[in-house]
Amino acid sequence: MAKQMQAWAVTNPGEALENVRLEAPEAEAGAVVLDVARCGVCHSDVHLWEGGFDFGGQQVTLAAMGIEMPLVLGHEILGTVSSVGSDAKGVEVGDTRIVYPWIGCGECARCREERDDLCERQAALGVRRPGGFGDKVMVPDAKYLIDPGDIDLSWAATLACSGLTAYGAVQKLMPMDPNTPIVVIGAGGVGLSAVGVLSALGHRNTIIVDIEDSRLATAKSSGASATVNSRTAPNAIAAVNEAAGAPVMGVIDFVNSPQTAALAFSLPAKGGAVVQVGLFGGSFPLPLAAMAVRAIRLEGSYVGSLAELRELVALARTGKLTPPPVAEVPRSEAGATLAALRDGSVVGRVVIND
Ligand SMILES: [Zn+2]
Ligand SMILES: [Zn+2]
Repeated sequence: MAKQMQAWAVTNPGEALENVRLEAPEAEAGAVVLDVARCGVCHSDVHLWEGGFDFGGQQVTLAAMGIEMPLVLGHEILGTVSSVGSDAKGVEVGDTRIVYPWIGCGECARCREERDDLCERQAALGVRRPGGFGDKVMVPDAKYLIDPGDIDLSWAATLACSGLTAYGAVQKLMPMDPNTPIVVIGAGGVGLSAVGVLSALGHRNTIIVDIEDSRLATAKSSGASATVNSRTAPNAIAAVNEAAGAPVMGVIDFVNSPQTAALAFSLPAKGGAVVQVGLFGGSFPLPLAAMAVRAIRLEGSYVGSLAELRELVALARTGKLTPPPVAEVPRSEAGATLAALRDGSVVGRVVIND
């Protein structure tokens, strides 16, 4: 009989995760199998658990995306190498590694230049390949594994998605003078990571916007130079510009709702940029002539490249990056954590640690 593994999986979207037994993966050819030691629980897991994404008012279901049940979620994975394929290079059994989960088809032009994040046939871990809510995970190539060094292992796991999403978005505004204002909208886990990345890169003028004072207080202690509560400020645009003290050249929207997009597009000075990251969804009427006349750059950002994750881990290993608050839970609480994330009652990141 084939070896088995356990996983907490979605069997019916929106319903409690089930503890299922699956065939354990084998490390063939260039592949590597890891015992999962940590796995972050992420907001995109919530969307997948609930059964799909809202793309501009249109709900796209898992079935329409070709995603089958049982779905083993979890893409912020750190594990210990348990078996290595005969062609896998650079890792040994027992090594602890962060896993780059945004794995592409391996054949297209983007994949050949290690831009798996832009592959049209991406098969990410925890989405189209079994993820870290299981006790084992198979990675098709050792190049997707990164040594965390001696940084905290739960934090290290979160670098693969929330950290990388923050880093990839920040990099779209770089290089930028460290005193030039950058506005970060949304002080959830990813927004806090972006504040931390900007601070570690030496940026000195980061204004964070949210609708909850408690989250803004956490952002302030993570390195934001100013905070604005866009719900209570009489005029959020004026409040942000006053806090910035100079023309805003970059805005990163980690919520990306019709409301936050309206704020984001009203902030940049001429030649500035808006980076859209959040998956809240919906649509927003773009002020077309203003975009042209004000020469605003609009750029979407989705996770980041393998090279960017390597850079981010290297930055974390220097000690310059302050970890966001990370809470640890047993794997059996993965489902309850998804519900807590859905309900907005989580500050910082939650990581499974067994
Ligand atoms: Zn994620
Ligand atoms: Zn590809």
